[in-house]
Amino acid sequence: MRVAIGGISHESSTFATVPTRLEDFAQRSRVEGDDLIPRFQGTKTPIGGFLDAARDAAFAVVPTLHASATPGGPVTAEATEVLTRRLAEWLRAALDSDPLDGVLLALHGAMVSELDDDGESYILRAVREVVGPDLPVIVTLDLHGNITQEMVGLATIVVAYDEYPHTDPYERGYEAGLLMARVVRGGVRPTAAIVKLPLLPALQRQYTHAEPMQGVKRLAREIEHERGILNVSYLPGFPWADIAPAGFSVIVTSDDDPAQARDAARCLAAYVWDRRDEFVVRPVPVDEAVRHAIEAPAGPIVLADIGDNPGGGSPADGTVLLEALLRLGATDAVVVPLNDPEAAREAFAAGVGGQVSLRLGGKVDTFHGEPLSVRGRVVRLSDGRFVHTGPMSTGVEMNMGPTAVLELQGARGGHVEVVVSTYRQQPTDLEMLRSQGIEPTTKRIIAVKSSVHFRAAFTPVAREILEVDTPGLTSPKLETLAFHRLTRPIYPLDPDTAWSPD
Ligand SMILES: [Zn+2]
Repeated sequence: MRVAIGGISHESSTFATVPTRLEDFAQRSRVEGDDLIPRFQGTKTPIGGFLDAARDAAFAVVPTLHASATPGGPVTAEATEVLTRRLAEWLRAALDSDPLDGVLLALHGAMVSELDDDGESYILRAVREVVGPDLPVIVTLDLHGNITQEMVGLATIVVAYDEYPHTDPYERGYEAGLLMARVVRGGVRPTAAIVKLPLLPALQRQYTHAEPMQGVKRLAREIEHERGILNVSYLPGFPWADIAPAGFSVIVTSDDDPAQARDAARCLAAYVWDRRDEFVVRPVPVDEAVRHAIEAPAGPIVLADIGDNPGGGSPADGTVLLEALLRLGATDAVVVPLNDPEAAREAFAAGVGGQVSLRLGGKVDTFHGEPLSVRGRVVRLSDGRFVHTGPMSTGVEMNMGPTAVLELQGARGGHVEVVVSTYRQQPTDLEMLRSQGIEPTTKRIIAVKSSVHFRAAFTPVAREILEVDTPGLTSPKLETLAFHRLTRPIYPLDPDTAWSPD
């Protein structure tokens, strides 16, 4: 048994003003051929899971291409074409040497390309052109995927992450690999049903360790244990995509029983629909959150800058929360990260211990506050690289690019440290601070540019977590965005939206 492995992964915000280019994939991750194996072996990634499944189920893997980029604007036509063509060329080369029994792909589900709103179907059509309509193609997806019927039809099975923060990409990759062995050797005949709900939940209530998603997860597991069910996937979707298929999808795959798959998908979708009002987010106003953190008897209080989450495509240079921390006299506070390549360069020019006076942040667009005029001291300079050691992306290197830690003076003798990065990265690991000489457990206030992923690493050290009502591209206030192509009506934008399972 011989299975090709690879993938192309991107989460695209159609509201982000900067498109995602080929060089953004090169900067985050683009690996081809044999290089795939040392890159991913032993990592908590879908490809790491494919590799261990191949070892345990004793099948051979043929590495192809894997590319991913930090969430941002839609993927350019050039990047889509080049990466998809390379993947197809690797698959053709694999087929030329020996027959293939299947293809395992790590995709996302929320990739919007300049060539196709449904980026994954674009990729899968190209894959099918090479391998034909019948070869098993099993795909892992991020739980933020906005899924179409076409995509589900092109894949043999889709396996979405169950957890947000995404602590289970490895496990889902492993599951996909074992399913591949059952399909190829065991005569399993997957048949999938997708139910799309007119529900567009903001990211913050998609957290799978609290309600309503905890209940969704529990019911999905129960259904998955029924005889004949191969996989149950629930994808609340990615709301900052103005495309027709954005929203909540449930996908159930059964063994050769379309009615069972359809009924199970409807049952889970009905459960979600009944709890739709629980997906509405009510964040804390900025000043109220900062005052609460300043007055708290002990820290760390984690303030989530949920409007400016680079993991959802925003620039991570928003200044609204930092401005409030400085103005209200917060002390022993840190902001992680603030992406501003220009400010990082100025800090490097000043050197460690140097004084800087600069315009910080608020430069990429007009949605995340004004640039701040600040004065401060350069505390530390580094190459911004670290390896994840926490529960998410364990073993994966993250590269913030040349990174400076600045200590800024605020009102009333307050001081706020800011980790100023050159590349946009979401704080998903405590190493983002520790690699910069900052011990998170000793801080009073930690402001993170993240919606939910920070929780995997920061919940164990946080005394309290507040979702702060900062403006920006990842604000849960979806009603403030101009949607044109989204399928309407959809809840909660259209409060009277109706849906029934039949
Ligand atoms: Zn995701």
